[in-house]
Parts: sequence; structure tokens; C-alpha cells
Amino acid sequence: MPTCLPLVRRRCNACASERFRASGKFRVNAHHKLIDAWLLALCTTCGETAKLTVLERMKVRSIRPELLDRLHGNDPGLTAELLQDPVVRRRNHVALDWTGAWRLDTGGPEHLDREVIDVSVRFTARIPVRPVRLIAEGCGLSRAEVERLITEGKVVSAVRLSGRLSGDFTFMLKR
Ligand SMILES: [Zn+2]
Repeated sequence: MPTCLPLVRRRCNACASERFRASGKFRVNAHHKLIDAWLLALCTTCGETAKLTVLERMKVRSIRPELLDRLHGNDPGLTAELLQDPVVRRRNHVALDWTGAWRLDTGGPEHLDREVIDVSVRFTARIPVRPVRLIAEGCGLSRAEVERLITEGKVVSAVRLSGRLSGDFTFMLKR
């Protein structure tokens, strides 16, 4: 689950930085019944402002009033929603950096003593992480041990456990 907003990966025009932090503020411009809206982000190094397009020349009537209210009110939840929206990310050619912005909740340590556990992993946001890392952290093992258990067929899943995942999956672990 997220613990804070992820950083936005984008090259700064003013310095060499490639990370921006969402400011939590929006800018809305209305012109002849057309609306533009941007999410403002600040370079983590020099503070330069970048505008991420949220709405581009949209007819006022075609926009949900609720969304306009949230944009005008700098709704804090809206920033998180928009950053997680793949359409917004594609339109602005940005990716997210989730380093240090999420945590794993295992629901307690009881599972650590069991010989066989069936685990379902639920993502509350689509955060790309290595399942090997999640399994290691959640089961109190090193990543090398998890890799070995996978090779030995003692960690079994319907999904590929190498690489990264950002959606729910299940696995079974036999010690
Ligand atoms: Zn900069």
C-alpha cells in the first residue's frame, strides 16, 4: 500500500534532475468555454515547476462538476488518483518512482512458523515491485533464500515470480 505520493520521473529543463514531487496544487484555465487543467509538480533538486496536463481544451459542459470542484479546491486525493491514472502518465510521458513510497502489511507474524502457507497479495495501488522482494520481506527470508525456494519448487505461483508485478497474485510456500 502507498505510504505517500510517488515521485514523478521526468527530466528537468533547468537542472539535471529526473525527479519531480507533486505540489498538491492544480492550475485551471478557462478560455471561450474550453478548459485546460494541469497538475503542478516541483523539481526535487531546483524547485522548477512542471505542468502535467490533466485536461486539454475540454468543453466545460463535458467535464463532471465534481472534478472541476476538486481541481479548484486542490483536492489532495485527486493528485494521487491522477498520478495513478495510466492515461495521464502516457499523455505527459512520465513514469512514477515508488521508491520508499509504499509498505508491505503482512497482517502479523503468525504465518512465519507454519510449514505451508497459502498467501494472497493484494495491491491497493498498482505499484511495480519484485514479488521475490515481497515474499522475502513478508516471510522473513533473504531474497537469495526465496530464489532458492522458487528453483526447488517450494514457492509456487500461477504468475511469473521473476521480474516485477503490480497486480494481485497468490503463492504457496513450503519450507
Ligand atoms: Zn531541476
